[in-house]
Amino acid sequence: MLPGATPEDVDAVVARVEDTGGQAFVSRGVSRVIIGLVGDVELFSRMDLAGMSGVGQVTRVSTEYKLVSREQHPDRSAVHVRGVPIGPESVTLIAGPCAVETPEQTLEAARMAEAAGATMLRGGAFKPRTSPYAFQGLGELGLKILADVREETGLPIVTEVVSAHEVAMVAEYADMLQIGTRNMQNFALLQAIGEARVPVLLKRGMNATIQEWLMAAEYVAQRGNLEIVLCERGIRTFETATRNTLDISAVPVVQRLSHLPVIVDPSHSGGHRDLVLPLSRAGIVAGADGVIVDVHPQPELARCDGAQALVREDLDQLAKTVADLTAYMGRRPGRRRYSSAG
Ligand code: PEP
Ligand code: MN
Repeated sequence: MLPGATPEDVDAVVARVEDTGGQAFVSRGVSRVIIGLVGDVELFSRMDLAGMSGVGQVTRVSTEYKLVSREQHPDRSAVHVRGVPIGPESVTLIAGPCAVETPEQTLEAARMAEAAGATMLRGGAFKPRTSPYAFQGLGELGLKILADVREETGLPIVTEVVSAHEVAMVAEYADMLQIGTRNMQNFALLQAIGEARVPVLLKRGMNATIQEWLMAAEYVAQRGNLEIVLCERGIRTFETATRNTLDISAVPVVQRLSHLPVIVDPSHSGGHRDLVLPLSRAGIVAGADGVIVDVHPQPELARCDGAQALVREDLDQLAKTVADLTAYMGRRPGRRRYSSAG
């Protein structure tokens, strides 16, 4: 209420709310009165409370993202991908090529990931590229290659899906469906993935606020799929020295607002391999539930994002750092429970 609101103004608001079956809780502060409303929010929003005498501001306090909100679900969730846990007690390392190019390249990258101790394989078969002339990915052939490499290595695969009508097909191969930064607000895609019974990796739109990101997650959850992991992958800022700016603050902020696990992608945010290790360190110490990185056996030949791909030695060093910082944070490596710890 405005500082000059009278007791009659307050009573009128309370009466109006109670007439609709709602409850009104009047809190009197030193300089103003706040009335908390509980009830049918849609009805409240149609009542034009803001236009009533003495009312200063009407603010919706209950979050709009209800299913992914921590308000509704105080314990942080774990998501399991073929038995591999992501959050909240574990820190999971996911590695693989930006794009699936050949069976040999994919298997070799997966072997690198496995040897370093990564427990999931990433790799794009459908690549949403800025330029229509750039390599668009191998499509379903790439998914078959990923499935073969999973047979060889046992690593669960996360791969991107770019259109709603391909969700069912990609889900036949993938263990986790990735929604890329460019599709974070492709609502038809979000809804289709919400109907799939496969865990989801939802990247933050490079121009999206945290609120918008959580609303995108809510779209997936609202259709019935709550197996969602969020991925901070860098946002657009005025800075041009890096590809995007990894928003480290997003990690603790999201964990306060939502029960969903959140991982970081230091490869797509920094855009250069030299940044992957320091950004990974920062992400884990900020509380991230995992790190997803690009690796390639021969980055100079990569058809996509070679500059950010780690080679074997880089990945080994990264994995060691991830393990050390996981212990430092009092967490454990994101491994299947029944496999030997390493
Ligand atoms: C990717 O992970 O391969 C990718 C395209 O990432 P982003 O959507 O974050 O650019
Ligand atoms: Mn990439």
